[in-house]
Amino acid sequence: MALGAVPSRPAAIFAQRGYYLLPNRTPTLGHAACRDMLDAIAEDGANTVILWLAGGFRSKKFPITWQYNAENENVRADFMRKLISHAQERGLKCLLGFTPFGYDGVNQYPREHPELKALGTDGKPVAEFGIHSWGWNLCPAKPESQRFMLEYIRELAFEFYPEADGLFIESSDYAICHCSECGAKHFDHEFQFVRTISEEAWAQKPDATIVVYPHYFSGAKLRFSFSEAVATKQPFDPRWTLFFTPHSAAIEPGLIAQAKGSWWWNEAPSRCNIPGIRAGAQRAREAHCTGYMPSLECYSYIETHEEFGEPWLNGRRQVPFGFGWLAEGASPYRELPVRAARLAYREYTINPDLSDAALHAVLGRELFGRHWQPAQVEDTLELCRVFATDRDWSVPAALTTPGLVESRRKAGRLDATKLASLRDQLARVRAIAGRNQNAKTAGGRELACIAQWLSAQWQGANAAILEG
Ligand SMILES: [Zn+2]
Repeated sequence: MALGAVPSRPAAIFAQRGYYLLPNRTPTLGHAACRDMLDAIAEDGANTVILWLAGGFRSKKFPITWQYNAENENVRADFMRKLISHAQERGLKCLLGFTPFGYDGVNQYPREHPELKALGTDGKPVAEFGIHSWGWNLCPAKPESQRFMLEYIRELAFEFYPEADGLFIESSDYAICHCSECGAKHFDHEFQFVRTISEEAWAQKPDATIVVYPHYFSGAKLRFSFSEAVATKQPFDPRWTLFFTPHSAAIEPGLIAQAKGSWWWNEAPSRCNIPGIRAGAQRAREAHCTGYMPSLECYSYIETHEEFGEPWLNGRRQVPFGFGWLAEGASPYRELPVRAARLAYREYTINPDLSDAALHAVLGRELFGRHWQPAQVEDTLELCRVFATDRDWSVPAALTTPGLVESRRKAGRLDATKLASLRDQLARVRAIAGRNQNAKTAGGRELACIAQWLSAQWQGANAAILEG
């Protein structure tokens, strides 16, 4: 190395690095906040992002798909085209995310066409389901369902955001259709759409990255969160990139060997779960995946239905990552717990076996400067654990939301052990606030502010909630 040269960073072991993001579920995050999100991700050396946009753009052909999401800043102002070209200038490839025949936006179509609803095992139309976008899966055997899917995604990919680098086609983890034409053939019908839209996208852009699930090729038995199904065995086109998840798409080495790329996902970064990020990077490496593309999603919609068994949240606005000290609409992606998760992701995608001591040194240096103290890193990791406690997709961490904890207590869902562990956690948070109250570095002041904000949630009337 020449004298004075900046040492280059060691290379990441994954060709594709970045996150699975859901701007369709953050209606309050406008152009500036989303741009900050992508800038932060680019600064970490990422090169790919999945931008889930079904239900989050102002479709002209199917306005029913965004009525539930009319307050979404991108539905209102359509800044995504500008954002995608900015991301590309920063070195990020952008893939447009959606689910065929289900989930956000798509599951609204049966409001106008109830005859397209998928059928359950009892032969009756499936019940309403969703996260943010509540609706019904479509039966993929019905020609009108196929026409809708093709026209909706053509509009998304070829009319709204033709500059995007490809598609992320997320097969539903929720249910299949059990009508007489679907059942064991559900994924054959789904695949008909997947193959058609893939060929159309490649015709427009031969090097487009198109990410699909293994369900169409593996013939494997599938176990979803809500149901079971059998995958189909269609011919695999090696231009596809495959996507694998712990909950709905098990690793398939035979397919990975044929594919242009293979990506592993987990939820760890979205939960500020640092050991989970290491486990994800290790799993991706063991499986010979070319990418580790975990979730860094957060939500800011108002719940319209009870989600994840928490009635208290119904009617309330989700707070991105539970960071209630931020103003509504502010970017949460540079707050300390997410910065720690991003740094962990950056480091573990270079070396999934990085020692704790080496990771702590990186966190210490980058968050607190060269005079960092081990206690500051321990405090940061403790706050990450706080924001991961009792989390689910649309359920915030316990200590961020006393009303939610109280509702669990009133419903008899909070036992003495859980109460005691939350009391202990709050005591540790108060100690963090005390230790850092006179901090001189920006990182130390941030530790103090977050710990003080958490402590303040449990003052006054809320103090009694944890007493049991
Ligand atoms: Zn069907």
